[in-house]
Amino acid sequence: MKLGVLGGGQLGRMLALAGLPLGLKFLFLDPQARPCAADVGQHLQAAYDDEVALARLAREADRATYEFENVPARALQWLARHLPVYPPPRALQVCQDRAAEKTFLRRIGVPTAEFAAADTPGDLEQAVERVGLPAVVKTRRMGYDGKAQRVVRRWEELPAAWEELGAVPVVVEALVPFRRELSVIAVRGLDGATLSYPVVQNHHEDGILRVSLAPAPGLSSGLAAQAQAYVHQALEALDYVGVLCLELFEVEGGLLGNEMAPRVHNSGHWTLEGARTSQFANHVRAVTGLPLGDATPRGCCAMVNLIGERPDFSSVLRVPGAHLHWYGKELRPGRKVGHVTVCADSWGSLAERLEALQARGLRVPGLGVLAGNAESR
Ligand code: AMP
Repeated sequence: MKLGVLGGGQLGRMLALAGLPLGLKFLFLDPQARPCAADVGQHLQAAYDDEVALARLAREADRATYEFENVPARALQWLARHLPVYPPPRALQVCQDRAAEKTFLRRIGVPTAEFAAADTPGDLEQAVERVGLPAVVKTRRMGYDGKAQRVVRRWEELPAAWEELGAVPVVVEALVPFRRELSVIAVRGLDGATLSYPVVQNHHEDGILRVSLAPAPGLSSGLAAQAQAYVHQALEALDYVGVLCLELFEVEGGLLGNEMAPRVHNSGHWTLEGARTSQFANHVRAVTGLPLGDATPRGCCAMVNLIGERPDFSSVLRVPGAHLHWYGKELRPGRKVGHVTVCADSWGSLAERLEALQARGLRVPGLGVLAGNAESR
């Protein structure tokens, strides 16, 4: 069976690495000249809405999926008329528009920060009146990794924020004084079976994920169960197939939904070594109609993103329990080029291993959490 994948970045590459042992072949549609998934599958270089390329993908592949969120929903809808596409295009449509996404979350019973949509500078003032300051103004579409958003603390900053974001439709959200950021990944098979991974704690810098800790240290079983229930509600409401990630804020008194990603997610990379079946293996199993695999974690695990830096591979791999994933991408400031996972039997031993990594020159922000301190913004 051949899987057509829209997007050929590291997520596609890791999907293929998980699918090859199952005898799957991969065809990546990606506009870049040499996307990193091309090392492990066929590459079709074309724009995501190129009808000739989409037609070829529909002819050559048996199923289609996507690893990039900003592919045009229309391209997926076109594909869905010719071959099965999972996750369902509707899920992508909901996730591509921050206002639709938050409305959806609320409809299925997931609380969110106060928010209001705005299409014009006049709307923006009204939206800020409703939501209050400080607020985060985000473009409704095409945002990822903290791009396309501005924190606004004073009224005078509004016109500049509007211009800097490109004078496009936005959502205004209350700035959440969260204790920490969490995410939960779940998967639903073609037969409707579901399972989820433990909730993880995420540490971001400049809106980009730096470190995930799994399972989230010290999370109460009540909040963990709540997070799992939320993501399962989303799976069912969307009649979903594949991996879905829900990002959450832990606040005084509970959880708030922030956003969803209808695909394998960076905060699930730890599952490659830290869970019995990885998110990538479970995604390919789900979309090809195979039974899902056990998502139980093996001990505790940290995932450290490599952002614009290439560590000395030997130094990293000398740390017990450390695994290196290098995506084969060109180094550029701010670019995700790899990640390191470290697993251990206890938080104490994990902390020691992460400290050893730091001593070898790899920055591990947010390590204080393991000493019992919750992160705050
Ligand atoms: P997003 O693109 O919505 O995932 O936002 C990227 C990061 O910005 C999040 O992981 C948070 O660290 C921060 N952020 C986003 N929205 C809010 C908010 N309403 N309040 C506080 N921080 C936020």
